[in-house]
Amino acid sequence: MAEVLVLVDHVDGDVRKSTAELLTAAARLGEPSAVFVGSGAEGATDFLARYGAAKVYTVADPAVTGHLVAPVAEVLASLVERTSPAAVLLPSTNDGKEIAGRLAIKTSSGLITDAVDVAPGTSGGVRTTQSVFAGSYTVVSSVTKGSPVITLKPNSIPIEEVPGAAAVEPVQVALSEAATAARITEVAEKAASGRPSLTEAAIVVSGGRGTGGDFGPVETFADSLGAAVGASRAAVDAGWYPHSSQVGQTGVQVSPQLYIAAGISGAIQHRAGMQTSKTIVAVNKDPEAPIFELVDYGVVGDLFTVLPQATEAVRARKG
Ligand code: FAD
Repeated sequence: MAEVLVLVDHVDGDVRKSTAELLTAAARLGEPSAVFVGSGAEGATDFLARYGAAKVYTVADPAVTGHLVAPVAEVLASLVERTSPAAVLLPSTNDGKEIAGRLAIKTSSGLITDAVDVAPGTSGGVRTTQSVFAGSYTVVSSVTKGSPVITLKPNSIPIEEVPGAAAVEPVQVALSEAATAARITEVAEKAASGRPSLTEAAIVVSGGRGTGGDFGPVETFADSLGAAVGASRAAVDAGWYPHSSQVGQTGVQVSPQLYIAAGISGAIQHRAGMQTSKTIVAVNKDPEAPIFELVDYGVVGDLFTVLPQATEAVRARKG
């Protein structure tokens, strides 16, 4: 069975959930092999084994890890040359997409970004599904040249636990001068909010202009659910919430199991970032708000009344 390379998304060995999704997707196409670039691989192998990685290629050389993404693309390119994989799967993050683009060029392969599903093609290859134009169209595509390079949106595929051998295989790669042209000079950790990251969270609660700048009820409700907090561009532009929390066409694209929009009208540009969420709930005091056209559940009401009640109800359920 052909290998399917999966780039492990991690911070110092702390593997993100999206990697389990990539491994689950890879198992549909062939034999998953994880590619771990950076330090901390020892601590990650149990996780990778749990989700079916047969092999774990590791690269811990500081010559590779001390730079931006270019060396990672060269590591993957050398593994593609060595293993001729059925596909290479990466997370649809900014880094993941940049690495994917570089890799596709290096290996003269076709590239598909932001897939929400993958399956074996009927006549070989890989069949991918994308949700485009704010979720209004579903596009099915296949790479026709080289080893398909595919980035997959987080939260798109239900994770399956399948034991794998996770046999560790250290890899040496001679990097080109161009790949090391940009070096990391300093890394400063952002103060943790204690909440899950927006793109990884299973539940996202977002606030818009309707909050009037008071995100308190949105945050408290999010915390009762263990959710991430998002915001509309109107809220971000007003300086009420950080730009990194903006959901939409020009912000972050999320696809959680549950998306709750509070005080958000549902402009097309906002929808573009959340329309593929599995279940959508809106709280808006205007019954004519366009967001109600796409929700699974809608609450017509003032968010300052509805969200505290919902928070109490969640807490009561949790006991
Ligand atoms: P509004 O449209 O003003 O809606 C506020 C809603 O809150 C209303 O429906 C109102 O009924 C409701 N409300 C008010 N008070 C309460 C209350 N107390 N309780 C309950 N409901 C209440 N927008 C994004 O979000 N993300 C993007 O990435 C993005 N990219 C853009 C890119 C371009 C090129 C352009 C032109 C625009 C973009 N926008 C984006 C902006 C987008 O068009 C909208 O202007 C924006 O999404 C509106 O934000 P909002 O829904 O919070 O505000």
